[in-house]
Amino acid sequence: MLSSQPLPEPYASLPEAETLERIVRARAALGKKLFILGHHYQMDEIIRFADARGDSYRLSQIGSQQTEAQYIVFCGVHFMAESADILAQPGQQVILPDLAAGCSMADMATADQTEDAWETLERVCPGRTMPLTYMNSSAAIKAFVGKHGGSVTTSSNCRTAFEWAFEQRDKILFIPDEHLGRNTAFAMGVPLSKMAVWFPNLPQGGLTDKQIRDAKIILWKGCCSVHQKFGVADVPRVREALPGVKVIVHPECRYEVCQLADFVGSTDFIIKTITAAPAGSKWAVGTEIHLTSRLAQENPDKTIVSLAGIQCLCSTMFRIDPPHLLWVLENLLEGRVVNRIVVEPETKHWAQVALTRMLGLKAKTIAPAKPTAPAVAATAAAD
Ligand code: SF4
Repeated sequence: MLSSQPLPEPYASLPEAETLERIVRARAALGKKLFILGHHYQMDEIIRFADARGDSYRLSQIGSQQTEAQYIVFCGVHFMAESADILAQPGQQVILPDLAAGCSMADMATADQTEDAWETLERVCPGRTMPLTYMNSSAAIKAFVGKHGGSVTTSSNCRTAFEWAFEQRDKILFIPDEHLGRNTAFAMGVPLSKMAVWFPNLPQGGLTDKQIRDAKIILWKGCCSVHQKFGVADVPRVREALPGVKVIVHPECRYEVCQLADFVGSTDFIIKTITAAPAGSKWAVGTEIHLTSRLAQENPDKTIVSLAGIQCLCSTMFRIDPPHLLWVLENLLEGRVVNRIVVEPETKHWAQVALTRMLGLKAKTIAPAKPTAPAVAATAAAD
């Protein structure tokens, strides 16, 4: 868990116009030494300064390709900056403008909890479980998975990773998003009765030896606080309010919501599907509100609304604001690197092993498990 960091004066109280103007100046003065990455869920006031916009894994890759950039400022959350540091070139330094920008999902699985779970699974079913972790996890969890023969997955290649895992072992431990794991496994044809949920705060995950032996997939009890907010009642409500609307949701949404949706897919899939849709089409989107609002702005010929009646905002992403960005940039101008994210060498090595295994997986479209199931689609991007 990350601690909150007060923004030093005068940055906290600068007028907005001055803040934005000084960011422009600092960015220009740092030139090619600086590269700013902006996650899709960031506010527009940050995205306007991003040299690249995207999802977590793609941004980390883009950062590592900027051979002239000494400083990679990641406008996202902590696990993303860690991933950027894992993939960074020697000499590149990764900076997170506010260290309190964490991720509720990534925080739901700690290294100690994961080791405890592994000890139990190995006692009950020795050598039969493949550990897989979603990109949205700490470097320590990625390293754990790498050490035990497993891979990282994105929301795009999750099914491919599951298939790869089942070619080698009988069952999967999927960390930390139960919904992505359940939605993916169900679309592959794994029945819900063969999925067990591991509660990290309960003895033996709350499962009996028999339940562990019987399960094909053991889903970590973790979720995204944003995507969890989309509810089953939202789908009929929006369909009634907007006749003809298509419902498109991220696979971090609950299974029941995904079952009702017309399309389920990664952030990149959502963007591409809506962008390619005909003028006049109507979309209710189950993902973070900044992305939905930006899609609406960029596709004025379509009706695009949030699936939820409430604001589904990632509050930790929202911590990255222009004053924090200005603060880190002006420090760089004065030769000081503040809020650098460094993954220690052994963790980095094993996390790289898990990420390299993921690169061996080929992203593909996932067919529905049964005719009534929604299409769970995948593209070449993450998160
Ligand atoms: S949207 Fe969800 S998974 Fe993504 S950073 Fe925010 S809390 Fe984490």
